[in-house]
Amino acid sequence: MAAPPAPQLRHEVELAGFTTWKVGGPAEYFAEPETPEELEALLIWGRQQGMPLQVLGAGSNLLISDQGLRGLVICSRHLQGAQLDGASGLVEALAGEPLPTLARRAAKTGLAGLEWSVGIPGTVGGAVVMNAGAQGGCIADSLVNVTLLDPGSGEQRVMGTQELDYGYRHSRLQAERWVVLKAQFQLEIGQAAEQVSQRTSANLHKRTSTQPYQLPSCGSVFRNPEPQKAGRLIEGLGLKGHRIGGAEVSEMHANFIVNTGNARASEMDALIRFVQQQVAQAHGLQLHPEVMRLGAFPDQPAAAA
Ligand SMILES: Cc1cc2nc3c(=O)[nH]c(=O)nc-3n(C[C@H](O)[C@H](O)[C@H](O)COP(=O)(O)OP(=O)(O)OC[C@H]3O[C@@H](n4cnc5c(N)ncnc54)[C@H](O)[C@@H]3O)c2cc1C
Repeated sequence: MAAPPAPQLRHEVELAGFTTWKVGGPAEYFAEPETPEELEALLIWGRQQGMPLQVLGAGSNLLISDQGLRGLVICSRHLQGAQLDGASGLVEALAGEPLPTLARRAAKTGLAGLEWSVGIPGTVGGAVVMNAGAQGGCIADSLVNVTLLDPGSGEQRVMGTQELDYGYRHSRLQAERWVVLKAQFQLEIGQAAEQVSQRTSANLHKRTSTQPYQLPSCGSVFRNPEPQKAGRLIEGLGLKGHRIGGAEVSEMHANFIVNTGNARASEMDALIRFVQQQVAQAHGLQLHPEVMRLGAFPDQPAAAA
C-alpha cells in the first residue's frame, strides 16, 4: 500500500461524531483536509488504492449505517474560506464553509439572497449537492458555478448552474459523485446591511421556534409530496412522539425524527419505514426520504451504497 498522505489519514473512525443525527458506524479510512491541496492528495491516494470514496460535508442530511463505510471517507467541513465582494455581489466559498456563517457574512456585507439559508446547519458543498432550500429560496437561485474534482481522473471542472440539473432537493451531483471544491454565487447588491441582517435573524428565529434544534436530527426526513406537507400528513396520523428504540418522531415537528439519546441508524431506518407504511396505508402516498442513506441497510447492500 502506498504511503498515505499523512498526517490527516485515520483508520476506523466512528462516523456518529460527524453526523448531526449522531449515528453511524466506522469509516475504514477517514480524513478531514483543510486545504484544496490536502484534498487533492487524499483523492490521489484513494485512487491509487482503488478504494471506494465517500465525501461528507457537515453530515446534516445523512443516515450512515451502523456497519459504517468501507474505503476512504473524506469530510470536507474544514475546507473553509470565503471571499465576498460587496461591490459586485460575487461570492466565492470553499466547500466546507458553513452555510449559516456565509449567510451572516453576506448579510453584514449588505448582500441579499442567502437569508433563507441561515438555519441550515450544512456546508456549501452539501448545499450545492442537495440544492438545499427553505422559505421559498434555494441554492440554485444564486449559484453561478461550482468547481469540481473528478475522483477517478483528478480532472478539475467548472460547471455552471444550468448544467447541474437542479430540482427540488435534487442535482445531478447526487448520482455523479464529483467532489465539490468551491462554489461561486451572485448575490444582490444595493440593500442596507441592517435590513438584510434583520431578515436573516428573523428567518433563524422562525425556524428555531418551530423546529427541534435542541435534539440531534437531520432536518426534514421526507420530501414534501407537493402540494401536501409531509409533516402535516404524519402529524394527522397521530405519529408525533412515536418511538423505535432511541428514534422518535419529533413532538415539535412531525417531519423531524430526533435521536433521544443512544439511537442506532437501524432504529432511524426502521422508524422511517414505519412512517412510510402508515402514510401509504392511510393516504395511498409514498413518502420519499430527503435524507441520504449511506452504507448497508436491510434493503440496500453495502456494495450498492
Ligand atoms: C436542524 C436541521 C435543519 C435542516 N433544515 C434544512 C432546510 O431547511 N432545508 C434543506 O434543504 N435542508 C435542511 N437540512 C438538511 C441539511 O442541512 C442540508 O441538506 C444540507 O445541505 C446538507 O449539507 P451537509 O454539508 O451537511 O451535507 P452532508 O449531509 O454531509 O451530505 C449531503 C450530500 O452532499 C454530499 N457532499 C457533501 N459535501 C460534499 C463535497 N464537498 N463534495 C461532494 N459531495 C458532497 C454528500 O456526499 C451527500 O451526498 C437541515 C438539517 C438539520 C440538521
